[in-house]
Amino acid sequence: MSENIIAVIGGSGLYELPGLQDVTTTDVDTPFGKPSGPVVSGTLQGTRMLFLARHGQGHALMPGEVNFRANVFALKQLGATHLISVSAVGSLREEFVPGELVVVRQYIDRTRGRRSTFFGGGIVGHVMFAEPVCPELSSMLLQGAVANDFRVHDNAVMSVMEGPAFSTRAESHLHRQMGADLIGMTAMPEAKLAREAELCYANLALVTDYDAWREEAEAVSFRVVLDTMRSNVEKARTVLAQVARSAGSHERTCTCGTTLDAAIVTQRSDIPAALLQQMKPIFGRVL
Ligand SMILES: [Zn+2]
Repeated sequence: MSENIIAVIGGSGLYELPGLQDVTTTDVDTPFGKPSGPVVSGTLQGTRMLFLARHGQGHALMPGEVNFRANVFALKQLGATHLISVSAVGSLREEFVPGELVVVRQYIDRTRGRRSTFFGGGIVGHVMFAEPVCPELSSMLLQGAVANDFRVHDNAVMSVMEGPAFSTRAESHLHRQMGADLIGMTAMPEAKLAREAELCYANLALVTDYDAWREEAEAVSFRVVLDTMRSNVEKARTVLAQVARSAGSHERTCTCGTTLDAAIVTQRSDIPAALLQQMKPIFGRVL
């Protein structure tokens, strides 16, 4: 039986994991700087968990200011095998009603200028990303929502925009035309980095509003978003506790943990020793 460590990155509204026992807090430094805040470790339903608030303590970081590389690096360094991303999102479809939960399976990356890879500086690699989330961890999230009778959607596509301003009406229509069901600001590059770090990654999205496309609806105001978010966060905590019950001893049969087997192009002998040492938590399994 394997012992997994399940990391959770909490988005807007989710700044802690209630019910966590034997809590310790770790300040981590990484080659990319500090993560969004200290990493909280503990046990939930018998499973070892790590928690990080994406926007920092007191919500001080905008989506574009989040040090995604430091966040994923820190969690991997502390032993994470799985990463559940929780994020507040806008709905681009009538049927994705505010207050409902969504398991995201695909992304369209519309962010700009974010550092989105652990490669570079002398190590080149390309990971497979056609299926950007872990099917097993996604199923666990889905089952966790269903078991609690929460309204939940599966197989959704999320467009990730730079923000921090919400979309114009024209942009909102454009995202719909591109095939997106949801609009968010943080799942990218988080999902790409998690894949490179060989973590099982899944995304529980909490629908807070209808974005700007739905002309008859009240245009998005952040106050409305915050109110719906509070009720969503309670559901997310329930789902996470449910997932924790089984995730600790889950036997991985997905390919997330062996992503780098055929991804790195650079010859090991050509990579500077200092870089190998620095990137050991990410590339150490294969280099
Ligand atoms: Zn996986």
